Amino acid sequence: MVKETKLYDSLGVDPSATDSEIKKAYRKLALKYHPDKNPNEGEKFKEISHAYEILSDGEKREIYDRAGEEGLNGGGMEGGMTAEDLFSHFFGGGGGGFGGGGRRGQPAGPRRGKDTAYVLKVSLEELYKGKTTKLAFNKTILCSKCDGKGGKDVRTCSGCNGQGIKVTLRHLGPMVQQIQQTCSECNGAGQIIPEKSRCKGCNGQKTVSERKVFEVHVDKGMKDGQKIVFNGEADQAPDTIPGDVVIVVEEKPHPYLKRKGDDLYYDAKIDLLTALAGGKFHLKHLDDRKLVVNILPGEVIKPGDTKCITGEGMPSYRHHNNGNLFINFQIDFPAANWTNPETIAQLEAILPARPALSPVPETEAEEVYLSNLDASQKSRAHNMEGDSDDEMHGGHGGPGVQCAQQ
Ligand SMILES: [Zn+2]
Ligand SMILES: [Zn+2]
Repeated sequence: MVKETKLYDSLGVDPSATDSEIKKAYRKLALKYHPDKNPNEGEKFKEISHAYEILSDGEKREIYDRAGEEGLNGGGMEGGMTAEDLFSHFFGGGGGGFGGGGRRGQPAGPRRGKDTAYVLKVSLEELYKGKTTKLAFNKTILCSKCDGKGGKDVRTCSGCNGQGIKVTLRHLGPMVQQIQQTCSECNGAGQIIPEKSRCKGCNGQKTVSERKVFEVHVDKGMKDGQKIVFNGEADQAPDTIPGDVVIVVEEKPHPYLKRKGDDLYYDAKIDLLTALAGGKFHLKHLDDRKLVVNILPGEVIKPGDTKCITGEGMPSYRHHNNGNLFINFQIDFPAANWTNPETIAQLEAILPARPALSPVPETEAEEVYLSNLDASQKSRAHNMEGDSDDEMHGGHGGPGVQCAQQ
């Protein structure tokens, strides 16, 4: 004979049930009442999980059979896994729910509260230099006046024996229907605090809200998506290990610098003379230094060239040896008809000579000139760019040729 059958009843099995019958019963009910599927049945889910936790453990089951829930050190969920942990343990992870997670296989202990995540938007300048910022959040803490107990005289609810749920049997002719309801005496809390002894600080709620300021250190070189964790600083609740406050760094886009890992990228537009004959341009760096970038005379920067300024990228996180600053060049050419025949003659004297053309017999030669594209030509020329390489190689009709032959 067992002392009581409540846990067996929760799973709908007989006290003589085998381990595998108990397992089967839990599986069926857990899938049915999991909060993801059945959000209103959270209490039921906790109840069956609690029953399974005890009855699936030979030692605990033996104590329960002999001495009932009292024998199990007062019972309740406090000493065991949370219903969610048990569920993911049973079904092999992915149970979701209560945050934290990842407790599979760990020894049973108080449940862990949810993590709280905040996004902190940080400029590239701040990620380059590092910064400390203060963030204030409201957080729920255990009431200090009653140590989170809710009052001086906290009694286990006698209506439900501290379980928060009542099981009543209803006889319908030959059938007996088992009805489980949230205990109306304690509203499912499992405890009753007489009004007189209720803590004035929290009105018996056990927790209060507090404004807390966190000093957040954004270290040099931190990256978009990186997390700054304050262990155990999330909301407090009775019999719960608080989760973490997690600050997620979000890098704001920069007006002219792009970042990839520890490297920076800058698009520079320089004039043709600087590209050919050398010169300087200025680049304001993330720590407000003005880099004076020198292009040497005769270096010759071509459109689309990429050059590198070594060590002027982002500081790497923790190590602080900098990445590189890559400069992509665009060349600003002079406008059409910018000069006169005399200076062109000077250019001809200075620049490398034009490549020699192979001679064409005068009878075959036909002089043609280039024109600018009108709108429809532009769209046709644009379509041509989309064509495959094969056609481009084989055909006569490049865009330049077409408009030259009008
Ligand atoms: Zn009760
Ligand atoms: Zn209190």
